[in-house]
This record gives sequence, structure tokens and C-alpha cells, in this order.
Amino acid sequence: MLPFEQLQKDIEAIQAKLIKEIDAMLASGKSKQEIAVFIDSTNFDELLDDYGASDAVRKYVTGLDSVVKDVAKDLSDNVANSLELIQNKQSEYILGNLSNRMVLWQSSMVEGLISGVKDADILKQLQTIGLTDSQAGSVLQTSYYNFSRATTAAVYEDDPDQKFRYTGGTIPTSSPQCRWLFKNQKSEGYTKAEIDRGIETPFGIINFFGRIPNYNCIHTWKAIR
Ligand SMILES: [Zn+2]
Repeated sequence: MLPFEQLQKDIEAIQAKLIKEIDAMLASGKSKQEIAVFIDSTNFDELLDDYGASDAVRKYVTGLDSVVKDVAKDLSDNVANSLELIQNKQSEYILGNLSNRMVLWQSSMVEGLISGVKDADILKQLQTIGLTDSQAGSVLQTSYYNFSRATTAAVYEDDPDQKFRYTGGTIPTSSPQCRWLFKNQKSEGYTKAEIDRGIETPFGIINFFGRIPNYNCIHTWKAIR
């Protein structure tokens, strides 16, 4: 399982645990008013943390380290620092999103409790909001491959003659331009400058970040050795 798939799974597990805990709280016999006040005063960021959100994101970021090792064994300090910057940003972004979701949960629960919404409907509403949205899997996947692309770009930055080959294989949903390039790419590969100018296919341009736009594109350029 790739790191972003694992993260997605971990987040789903955290969501299920939180819903279970909230279910128990709603069934505790306390008044709706009391529960609303309790929820309002609960630090949901801490709660997320207790349920393993930070650990899951740390695991994902560690998984990105393995992407780096696939591209290069030794990194210069500059490259390592740049990649760490991206890793930190991705980590902040994911945790920030989860934290925003928790605020939505909190406000939805308080509103529901005060308006006399049935417990089951409050829980259903939380499920619907979710800890991530329906696009989250694709966003994580795209971030993951963009990190891999950025790693390759950074590692070979000072080597303009290095040639690259488009890789990643096709699946039924692969785009026509990616498929075309797999069939038609030059066997000697392309330099970074050529790729940056954009490789024209009958279906659109492909550059170092894959298909444009590269949403859901899992293809990357690998150095030919
Ligand atoms: Zn692609």
C-alpha cells in the first residue's frame, strides 16, 4: 500500500472511532444542553491527536522519505532541505484540513443538540461531513506524486544533460495523452529542458508534472542510468 493510501485508510479508521465515541456520549443520559456545552468546550484538535491523526500524518511523511530513496541514495543538504520544506507543507496542509473538519463537526453537533435533532441524525450528519471530502483521495494522490516529481527535479537540477523516461504504467482510467506518450516516447529519453517545454501529444501536452492538468495522473519521469 502506498503512503497516501495508508493515510486515507488511517483517517477513515480515526473517523469511525470518533463517531463511536460521540455516539456513546450522546447515549450517556446527560441532557442535550450539557452535552452541547461539553462539546463546545472540547479541544477537538487534541482529540484528533489522541485518536492518532498526527501519527498517521507522520507515517505518511516518513513514507515520502522512501520516495526520495527511490530517486537518489545521497542528497545534498540543499536538496534535502527543499524536500523537507515540501514534506512540512504537506503535513501542515493535511492536519489543517482535518482540524477544519473538526470545527465543522463541532458546530454541526452543537446546532443539532440545541435544535433537538435526533441522535441518529446528528451522527449521520457527522458521517456526511466526514473527516475528508470525496476528493481527498485524489488530492492526496496528486500531492504524493508531485512530491516524487519535485524530488527528481531537485536531485537532477545541476545535470542538464540527464535524460528521463516517462514511467508509471497505464490503468483503464489513464488519460489518452499519457497512453500516447508511453507508446511513442523517444527511447533515448528527454532532457528536463525538453520536458519543461512540454511534450506534444495528439491529446494535449505532457510536462514534468505529467498530464496538464495533472489531477489523478500517477506518471512520473525517471532518470535513465
Ligand atoms: Zn498520467
